[in-house]
Amino acid sequence: MPNTQLDLSERLASVQKRISQSTKSAGRPDGSVELLAVSKTKPAADIREVCNLGQRDFGENYLNEALQKQADLTDLDICWHFIGPIQSNKTRALAEHFDWVHSVDRLKIARRLSEQRPAELAPLNICLQINLDDEESKAGIALDELDALIKGIKLLPKIKLRGLMAIPAKQNSFAAQKASLLRLSKALLPYSHNDRDFDTLSMGMSADLDAAVAAGSTMVRIGTDIFGARSPTTETIKR
Ligand SMILES: *Cc1c(COP(=O)(O)O)cnc(C)c1O
Repeated sequence: MPNTQLDLSERLASVQKRISQSTKSAGRPDGSVELLAVSKTKPAADIREVCNLGQRDFGENYLNEALQKQADLTDLDICWHFIGPIQSNKTRALAEHFDWVHSVDRLKIARRLSEQRPAELAPLNICLQINLDDEESKAGIALDELDALIKGIKLLPKIKLRGLMAIPAKQNSFAAQKASLLRLSKALLPYSHNDRDFDTLSMGMSADLDAAVAAGSTMVRIGTDIFGARSPTTETIKR
């Protein structure tokens, strides 16, 4: 299916509608769930279209691809989020070119991001990635490692700890998705209680958006339902 302008605007509108309907049926305040448009493998022209429709936050997984698109889109006011696996030799570019990094799961990475964040920029917003289902194929720490990691990260001057992120294992029902995602919501509570900035639950993708909103997500990361399916060949360049 070609990504014509009309397709993108219709798709974006339909995702926005799903978010507002899920927010309402969960009894949550209007506007309490932000949309992160995940543009990995999609051309800069698509990002420009979606940005011109009023979307400001975009998420990318692959650093070199993201840097190229950022260079093509410097005239736009975009808030860039990195959501992919992090190699420690790539932290400088992340610290210099992104506003948020959602996939931090090691103190060493956080330390480098803090050291390499340019002095003139605000502290880098980060989320800690949790491997909710203990899957070997996915990055992230176990929930019982969270406390220790947070204690280390709190001391870093150029890092602003914003919340938790997860990519749960696939579930086939709304109830099972919600149960899984609720574990992440519960894990945030003791921290969000004491720290007003530590308020972000980055969870929910195209397949579990509605369950994620029901479970308390504050930022859903939606790719396919906005930009269309990704081609399998580009998907395999994961790590
Ligand atoms: C690709 C990706 C998404 C978007 O997934 P869709 O199913 O296309 O909506 C969200 N989060 C992460 C971490 C991703 O890698």
